[in-house]
Amino acid sequence: MLVRRFIVPFNLTTEHVALTDKLAHRILRVLRMKVGDQILLCDPRGVEWVAEIVGTEIDVVRVKLLEPIFSRPIPQTFVTLFQGIPKGDKMDLIVQKATELGVQRIVPMFTRRTVVQLSPDKAKSKRERWQRVAVSATEQSGGKIVPEIALPVPFKKALDEAAKSDLWLLFYEAAEEPLREVMAPFKDAGHVAIMVGPEGGFEPSEVAEAKRMGAQIVSLGKRILRTETAAIVAVALVLYELGQLER
Ligand code: SAM
Repeated sequence: MLVRRFIVPFNLTTEHVALTDKLAHRILRVLRMKVGDQILLCDPRGVEWVAEIVGTEIDVVRVKLLEPIFSRPIPQTFVTLFQGIPKGDKMDLIVQKATELGVQRIVPMFTRRTVVQLSPDKAKSKRERWQRVAVSATEQSGGKIVPEIALPVPFKKALDEAAKSDLWLLFYEAAEEPLREVMAPFKDAGHVAIMVGPEGGFEPSEVAEAKRMGAQIVSLGKRILRTETAAIVAVALVLYELGQLER
């Protein structure tokens, strides 16, 4: 029987826990769960428990923690995806797939060819939406930690943050360097930054600036991939090369 898994925003430290708000609503009204049902709860530290519903009120679910679940270690390399904000709802897909694969942070960025314009309020609500996508993708995929979705930043700010990584990969369709060779010396990198452009790609001057600041400019082959394809493939290949997709 499928045991439903939920990410909770607080640490699981007491035997009895009250779930409220959207989570309680989802359990009671959407999933129609009831007293006696068992669920899995995972907290922000990645600690996971089997729990049993022991009581319900209007939009409150009382659970009792039954037993902790010890599972595979959290991947040691911290991977950040810097993504040129695409049009439409493609960012939802990129956030969902990058989360399933194991990215720990996603930074949406405005580059010269980003078509999307977002007011501060719109950027805030988009970030909150993408963060909800990340929570449900983490619950579904069995991930331990929900990736942080940052507020959209200008390219310059993304450059400054990415430059602090141990390995910074900017994916560029005109690049010559194959990914595998570039990654070979970085198998034990602590922090890897992946940078992918929007539909229109990066300006050559943006690529040159990133290279000057330490980025490795890498190719995904001769085909021109859509931004959402490139982001998903780049994350998957980098995590695979880091040996993090086997665990
Ligand atoms: N401006 C490009 C063109 O029309 O030739 C297309 C950009 S592509 C749709 C969007 C992003 O995906 C690029 O900025 C790059 O980051 C990534 N990308 C697509 N194909 C790639 C490839 N073969 N190698 C490396 N990156 C690629």
